[in-house]
Amino acid sequence: MSWWVVLTAVLMGLAIAWVGMIALRAASGPGPRENPEVEDVEELEVFLVCRECGTEFRVTRLGELQIPRHCGELMQVVRRPAAGDLTPG
Ligand SMILES: [Zn+2]
Repeated sequence: MSWWVVLTAVLMGLAIAWVGMIALRAASGPGPRENPEVEDVEELEVFLVCRECGTEFRVTRLGELQIPRHCGELMQVVRRPAAGDLTPG
């Protein structure tokens, strides 16, 4: 086996890996992109509160909001300032 056979094999392997990566990238779309219709409410601290039993769910992403039920009642959407914004005193 001469050196160029080895070189060709290595180059072929690299080319296959490169093509595979491009195919993977194409399959997964043009990179991570935020959905513009999804409201990021992580800094607002939105909670879904059950008025019956007091259970609270924290909402971090507000998309097409469908209020879930708890204890047979629709939960209440409560917006509170983020805990980080609270300044004691
Ligand atoms: Zn409940």
